[in-house]
Amino acid sequence: PFEVLVVGGGPAGAAAAVYTARKGFATGVAAERFGGQVLDTLGIENFISTSYTEGPKLAAQLEAHVREYPVDIMNLQTATRLIPADRPGGMHEVVFDNGASLKARSIILSTGARWRNLGVPGEQEYRNKGVAYCPHCDGPLFKGKRVAVIGGGNSGVEAAIDLANIVGHVTLVEFDTKLRADQVLVDKLRSMRNVDILVNAQTTEVTGDGARVDGLRYKDRATGAEQHVALEGVFVQIGLVPNTEWLKDCGLELSKHGEIVIDGHAATNLPGVFAAGDCTTVPYKQIIIAMGEGSKAALSAFDYLIRNEAV
Ligand code: FAD
Repeated sequence: PFEVLVVGGGPAGAAAAVYTARKGFATGVAAERFGGQVLDTLGIENFISTSYTEGPKLAAQLEAHVREYPVDIMNLQTATRLIPADRPGGMHEVVFDNGASLKARSIILSTGARWRNLGVPGEQEYRNKGVAYCPHCDGPLFKGKRVAVIGGGNSGVEAAIDLANIVGHVTLVEFDTKLRADQVLVDKLRSMRNVDILVNAQTTEVTGDGARVDGLRYKDRATGAEQHVALEGVFVQIGLVPNTEWLKDCGLELSKHGEIVIDGHAATNLPGVFAAGDCTTVPYKQIIIAMGEGSKAALSAFDYLIRNEAV
């Protein structure tokens, strides 16, 4: 058994493992895919102190840093169930899809999240070639250009306001007959001069020239007519889904969006179970935030372990 078992090997999990290993605790990291979303990222320009890096390089550095310490990295392991300890100081158990299970006195959950995809032709083909999911990350790459934002909820409208300050022109595309964002955001967006808003519009294809995005095709749901808009970028903002489906019935508190509810110490409602990064209620999902949260969860696990004798 471990003293600390980290479930998830993205930036949050890697940071957590380095911190608990440095406290001398027997630490394991079990991950479906060590590196997490970073593996799917091309250029990273907002990882402070490093003006530019690339996802696969950062993922390799995360792993190398964890391997500086005696941490047991178990890659390609999908957790399917958490069985919490029946009392503080007791052993938690995590069951995996291959039937194996691991026990630890403290657990750090860092299973991240995934962007919901549109599922239309061109989206995968032009991912990182004009199709983007994170305005904070990729907005500046479209300086002066034309982009679409798909999704008229809070995140879509926030993204459109953000991008309108950076890019040349923004077309917001919403499937429903009206925007679902807070009124204050909708009013702000409508006041911006370089923004067009399309409602009742179903995105049917991301078009490109083979190398990069060159437009977006949508169906006007009122008339059925197909339209094409020429542009250079498409930001998909139809939801970020936390990887917490496997935690639904174990007594762990989740928000209505499925995020693990944490307090300022990265503690969950279950004693000895901590959580960090994109799978939690922490606002803003970014690499540097996930790392800070993972470190915080590890220090809280340390605090918990020295205060609760093994039972
Ligand atoms: P993740 O990186 O999602 O890692 C989760 C880990 O948990 C993975 O190892 C995964 O395999 C594992 N896991 C999931 N479910 C299970 C399970 N059931 N059992 C075991 N393991 C499991 N952020 C920036 O700051 N700058 C950028 O430029 C940037 N660009 C991005 C570009 C793209 C295309 C994407 C998708 C994201 C980008 N982000 C960027 C966001 C950033 O990648 C995330 O905020 C960050 O990776 C979150 O870290 P995390 O450790 O919480 O989760």
